[in-house]
Amino acid sequence: MGWVTIPKPRWFELDREFTLRRDAAMLRGPVEWSWDVTNRCLGRCLHCLNRSGVVRREELSDGEMLDVARQIAAQRPLAICLCGGEPLLRLDTVLAVATILVGARVSVSMVTNGYLATPEAVRRLADAGIRLVQVSVDGATAASHERLRQLPGVFERAWAAIAALRDAGVTVGVSFVPTRQSIGEWRQVYDRCRAEGVSDLRMQPLMPLGQCHFAYEELAPTAAQYRDLAEDVAELAWNNPGAMRVEWGDPVDHLVRFGQALAMVTHMLHLTADGSIAVSIYLPVLLGNVRRHCLEDYWQAGLGEAWQLRLIREMAYRVRSNRDFAAIRPHPFFDAPLDLDLIDLGRRGVERLSDVVLAFLDRVWPAVDRPASPPDFQEIAS
Ligand code: SF4
Repeated sequence: MGWVTIPKPRWFELDREFTLRRDAAMLRGPVEWSWDVTNRCLGRCLHCLNRSGVVRREELSDGEMLDVARQIAAQRPLAICLCGGEPLLRLDTVLAVATILVGARVSVSMVTNGYLATPEAVRRLADAGIRLVQVSVDGATAASHERLRQLPGVFERAWAAIAALRDAGVTVGVSFVPTRQSIGEWRQVYDRCRAEGVSDLRMQPLMPLGQCHFAYEELAPTAAQYRDLAEDVAELAWNNPGAMRVEWGDPVDHLVRFGQALAMVTHMLHLTADGSIAVSIYLPVLLGNVRRHCLEDYWQAGLGEAWQLRLIREMAYRVRSNRDFAAIRPHPFFDAPLDLDLIDLGRRGVERLSDVVLAFLDRVWPAVDRPASPPDFQEIAS
């Protein structure tokens, strides 16, 4: 009796599918969540990537949020970041959500502009078990920071929040988005962070998304400025081993890595304020909504394998630099996102619709100067 020969490409396809299904089935959900608990914000930042405070969607009610928190807790992720908008505008709900998640041993962090982080609010956050809060500081002076944030007084309040959080025993991170005008101030921000007991300074590039669509050309640092910054940060780390950490978070990074991974279970998911689920806040594709179905059902319907969806991979592949975000269609936070519900449409339905969408995208958002598709697994395997 001879061997049955399975053609090589088909074999790899089956192997990949099996590996993915097996790995996804071992988990109940992603390792990490991020959750916009509100779209509202007191700030009107020129660089706000999701246009918080401007774009209004019907947010989950307090009761819906608590129900979702219980669903997330049941998935046992390692960590969740509560973001927005300004989460402190829903302080009571944030505290109730955090209590549920911390009770399930999920590490809960939060981001804030600091404006509403009074000592009392900070004490309640600490009591609820939130152990890490990231405060935005985008300049070394009030003028520089508030020029970007469009919120008078937020500079002093941000530093007061940092001190209050530190005193309450909460680990504090600072995020700094350099602009052409403020990039030279990073070292002053770093020194003040260090003096105030901040644990790490996280910087990330400006992106032509959301509100920044209008101001990107004026605010974006030049390539030479970014290069100088990278050299300065490297030199600082080299000369001061063990000093406060400086991180560089580039949103393009996860699109490149996850978009090309061959058999990767969804590591991180994002929940919008209106309950929609996305694999990346930077891609205008929604794969479900907690108002329609529960998270467990979405996971079983294929959310754990979402980075293998052709549309997601093709979109991710078209972003190779921060400037490419300007070309994304539908335009995130301006146009309605593509709502491809994994349960209502089924995975096959999503893939079929993807063909139509991709044919359209080829016209309005061509993949210029690069191969039309991400490398195929067959190519890599051979
Ligand atoms: S960047 Fe942050 S503080 Fe500024 S408007 Fe957006 S959510 Fe509010």
